[in-house]
Amino acid sequence: MTKALIIGGGIAGAVTAMALQKAGITSEIHEAYDTGADDIGAFLTIMRNGMNALHAVDAHQPVIDAGFPATDVEYLDGSGTRITLNPMRGGAQTLKRSVLYRVLHDETTHRGIPLHHGKRLVLASIVDGVVHAQFKDGSTAEGDLLVGADGIHSATRAIIDPDSPAPRFTGLTIAYGYTKASSFQQSADAYRMIAGSRAFFGYTTAPDGETWWFARAPELDLSTATKQNFVDLLAGDNTPAAEIVRSTDDLFINNAYDVPETRHWYNDSMVLVGDAAHAASPASGQGASLALEDSVILAKCLRDIADTRAAFEKYTEIRRARVERLVAESAEQGSNPNRRAAVPRPEDRHWLYDYEIDWNEAIA
Ligand SMILES: Cc1cc2nc3c(=O)[nH]c(=O)nc-3n(C[C@H](O)[C@H](O)[C@H](O)COP(=O)(O)OP(=O)(O)OC[C@H]3O[C@@H](n4cnc5c(N)ncnc54)[C@H](O)[C@@H]3O)c2cc1C
Repeated sequence: MTKALIIGGGIAGAVTAMALQKAGITSEIHEAYDTGADDIGAFLTIMRNGMNALHAVDAHQPVIDAGFPATDVEYLDGSGTRITLNPMRGGAQTLKRSVLYRVLHDETTHRGIPLHHGKRLVLASIVDGVVHAQFKDGSTAEGDLLVGADGIHSATRAIIDPDSPAPRFTGLTIAYGYTKASSFQQSADAYRMIAGSRAFFGYTTAPDGETWWFARAPELDLSTATKQNFVDLLAGDNTPAAEIVRSTDDLFINNAYDVPETRHWYNDSMVLVGDAAHAASPASGQGASLALEDSVILAKCLRDIADTRAAFEKYTEIRRARVERLVAESAEQGSNPNRRAAVPRPEDRHWLYDYEIDWNEAIA
């Protein structure tokens, strides 16, 4: 039986393992950290297309149980005037990234898929058709193929193509926070996005009454950036944003990067999925959903095409145009100084959200 080494136990890694298992391919996951990615404090929404991908491998229910539904997004401008109300059809779910990791890990364990922590890939090579992976702790693993699900700073990407460019700075500094002290709450299934005059802001309120928020601002110096910077950027607008930030005790502040184009997604026995292949700026809120789609499509290609390299080629052919379009649109949306004009219209997003994966349909 074919055995895959999956590098990275994040969103794409866990779901690729489940999808490969469904396709009859065994795998083991090798995760660098003891728990998961370093920006674990953030929250995210799995959109309709991402939930469809989870459905394809019967992994949707644990995510639904752990999250809360997002059904509407109201956009305001800096004066507090409504720009538009966008319905989010199809069971989009919001949850903390750490919770999503935990749920997916529990699900892989439940399905008998081995997950090894503390395994940071440093080298991989192919000898006589066998992939040899070497980890920072000195241990090694062997398999018939290797899936690089190791995120935006992917070591696998650099092994497949040592000349692959480093992730690109989007020009945006992102802050996230959680507060129970704000007097401004949304209903639990609604987001409010504010195209403010100096920063973009979004918030929703979880069923327990905690408000979850993020802000995207033009680049700040990370070594000195504070809560007060974000309060100042938002305070000039006639919206609740500044008060919500002010009422928050702890903030997570980071710069945002993307990976707009990866020349080589695969070689004879190694292939990339998720952020390792294509990372979008957070503006679109689609990175996780696209990673989930990748995982399922890759497994289908390996199920239906006997030759591994031909399966990787088909997978790339199916995925590349879609993900590169999204990464480009997300970059444009995030960097447009006219934040109001960059608010997406629902009719322009059908190509993104309405993507269906039929597990039983054969790859041509
Ligand atoms: C602040 C922030 C907010 C975001 N908000 C959203 C959102 O609202 N909606 C959305 O859809 N997306 C969002 N995203 C993007 C989303 O988180 C990513 O697109 C998604 O996590 C990609 O999944 P992945 O499995 O490819 O990578 P990751 O989730 O990053 O997982 C990669 C895994 O590989 C491991 N790893 C790394 N290097 C190695 C190595 N050498 N060896 C072994 N393991 C390794 C990491 O520890 C990690 O566990 C956000 C991203 C950030 C940073």
